[in-house]
Amino acid sequence: MSLPELREEVFRANLELADNGLAPLTWGNASGIDRETGLVLIKPSGVAYNLLRPEDLVALALDGKIVEGRLRPSSDAPTHLALYRAWPEIGGVVHTHSIFAVSFAQAGRPIPCLGTTHADFCPGNVPCVRALSKMEVEEDYEANTGKAIIEDYQKAGLKPLEYPGAVLSRHGPFAWGATAGAAAANALILENIARMACLSLDLNPGLGPIPEYIIQKHYRRKHGPDAYYGQKR
Ligand SMILES: [Zn+2]
Repeated sequence: MSLPELREEVFRANLELADNGLAPLTWGNASGIDRETGLVLIKPSGVAYNLLRPEDLVALALDGKIVEGRLRPSSDAPTHLALYRAWPEIGGVVHTHSIFAVSFAQAGRPIPCLGTTHADFCPGNVPCVRALSKMEVEEDYEANTGKAIIEDYQKAGLKPLEYPGAVLSRHGPFAWGATAGAAAANALILENIARMACLSLDLNPGLGPIPEYIIQKHYRRKHGPDAYYGQKR
């Protein structure tokens, strides 16, 4: 993908967050990376989605240096960059403050896998990443947010593309994917499964997870070597 194509994709991914109601006001940001050059394109900080233009996206090197752009990058850029540096398989990152995903984040709870909609997305609970310490927040908040996500995934042995999103304790969701478009779609799925889980737990507070064999069936028929969902490419 060329840089102009990436710019168009990241621009669209940002608009999708707004169009899908995931990021009211300026509460969200999407980015994408060109792995050949290592350049990341990200939403500028505090710019309303209806005023955003493709040329406003800021190009950053993986170390955070601004390579191109007149505007300041999203304040969450260091979190995006930490994820790109740690996980070479991802090509897009999205952060939102969508209501139901934030609700799980604020409650400090993972999103439990209660049905097949969730199992199609990831083969288990959506992780709730640990809260940051006072020192981590004061020292380098956004970069340490990325560090906490990466550490929690490492500890739990989770693959980023199998679990393409998490909620951050007391904060909100981050989602990612092979491309910026996939990351935006994953942010929407994350919000929907969070909403479904909330409503299901309302109706039946004692509800447990669905059996592992159903999770595996649904996840594997859609993802991985033996997938048969959708059309052959
Ligand atoms: Zn945030």
